[in-house]
Amino acid sequence: MKIKDLLATKTGRPVTVAPTATIAEAVRTMHGNRVGAVLIPDATGCPLGIFTERDVVRLYAEGDDLTQVTVEQRMTCSVVLGKPDDSIDSVMSLMTERRFRHLPVVDGGTLLGLVSIGDVVKAKLDEAAKEAETLREYIHS
Ligand code: AMP
Repeated sequence: MKIKDLLATKTGRPVTVAPTATIAEAVRTMHGNRVGAVLIPDATGCPLGIFTERDVVRLYAEGDDLTQVTVEQRMTCSVVLGKPDDSIDSVMSLMTERRFRHLPVVDGGTLLGLVSIGDVVKAKLDEAAKEAETLREYIHS
């Protein structure tokens, strides 16, 4: 199974915030949309930024004033991107090795979607259930 197959099952676009949004605004956006990450398109000097719930935890623990600091000051700018033809297995390995749980998927400069580790695990479970069903049918035929 490939990432493009997974994206085809997802509804909705990735949630984005402006680079100038404060961290507090980004947190409210994440909470309102029930997501653990937001993307920051076309941030100054950075084609794409990402900001996740793990960043919020770190900044709060470090004592940042979340109502004053902006997303562009704290987002991750060197974002690792996936491609539509990447396999689910390779994405799972990448996320495990690099220790992040979100992967924006881009095709020729166009943002296609954002895949989370939850999406990947669900796709693997669905695949395993289908295989088991096929084997059951084979045994009973
Ligand atoms: P996460 O596990 O996705 O909540 O992210 C853990 C850390 O990695 C945070 O600092 C994120 O900003 C960063 N991060 C998340 N996804 C990516 C990605 N695709 N490329 C680079 N950094 C990322």
